[in-house]
Amino acid sequence: MEYRRLGKSGLQISALSLGSWLTFGKQIGNNTADELMSIAYDNGVNFFDNAEIYARGRSEIVMGEILKKKNWDRDSYIISSKVFFGYLGKDARPTQKGLHRKHVVEACEQALKRLQLDYLDLYFCHRPDKQTPIEETVWTMHNLIQQGKILYWGTSEWSAQEIMEAHMVAQRYSLIGPTMEQPQYNMLERNKVEVEYAQIYKTVGLGTTIWSPLATGVLTGKYNDSFPGDTRLSILGMEWLKDAALAEANLSRARKLTTFAKELGVSLPVLAIAWCLKNEHVSTVILGASKSAQLQENFKALELKELLTADVMEKIENILGNKPILSQY
Ligand code: NDP
Repeated sequence: MEYRRLGKSGLQISALSLGSWLTFGKQIGNNTADELMSIAYDNGVNFFDNAEIYARGRSEIVMGEILKKKNWDRDSYIISSKVFFGYLGKDARPTQKGLHRKHVVEACEQALKRLQLDYLDLYFCHRPDKQTPIEETVWTMHNLIQQGKILYWGTSEWSAQEIMEAHMVAQRYSLIGPTMEQPQYNMLERNKVEVEYAQIYKTVGLGTTIWSPLATGVLTGKYNDSFPGDTRLSILGMEWLKDAALAEANLSRARKLTTFAKELGVSLPVLAIAWCLKNEHVSTVILGASKSAQLQENFKALELKELLTADVMEKIENILGNKPILSQY
């Protein structure tokens, strides 16, 4: 395993990590979740990603049970949770969601209880909250760090401007600002990581824990010509994700990439994950898996560094044809 600094912090995070969205407490059984965490940990993964909303809190309960059973040294792994949507999702009352002090503090307590932990290593604001001043959230996160309930805090899908506002507040009052952002990043979704945050990697040393490296499975090639029935996109209620993911522009790129990966002698998921790892601004690529074999396969991405030469990267760029433009000004 390779370890990278989480932005400008000194925290060493594994370049590949494991997430639990849609899988833990929902799509897969607890034994499979246990197997996935063991495979990950044994391969050097030290970061497991979670959120209050995942399976309405059940994902944290499942992960907490597994951690308790494994009894791995607490200082050998990093656990996250995220606050914003509330664990009740669309049934949450106004005080049970958002980034105001009340919910952030209560959600942290609830996550710790579900995970059976004394502290969270990383705590993310899952989305920006237009109803709460950023100043209130920054103070709350800083205080949680002072209380030892969280170690680092960050954002997810915030704009560069919102992240900078949080840093300005932190600087004004000598508080601890956000260390990392969790954006979507993959061959099909590039703008935030490659363009929008370009400046703030330099100015505030932003770290990134990127999600959906396989574009929710499209970049495995398995949807190229048919619709397999045993995937997340066939789960009832996931129609919104299916419609967005299986847009023709995505499938057409996936088909061409499948052929190219074959020429290189690798599988498309392995190539797609290695492509994410190639970006030096990515601190960790959060993997998702519903089966152990998928996770085992995806770890091969770590061995692909030499294969992704400038020439290969250019060929991929030509296939994708979606390179975001970085303004010169
Ligand atoms: P991916 O885009 O990599 O999708 C993972 C899914 O693709 C798996 O669950 C599996 O689904 C399928 N898959 C993975 N590997 C293979 C393979 N080798 N062959 C075939 N199918 C494969 O990542 P996720 O969307 O799961 O995101 C990763 C993590 O990021 C999440 O668990 C979560 O922790 C985090 N996240 C954060 C968000 C945020 O807003 N901050 C939003 C979304 C995710 P299946 O078998 O069902 O097809």
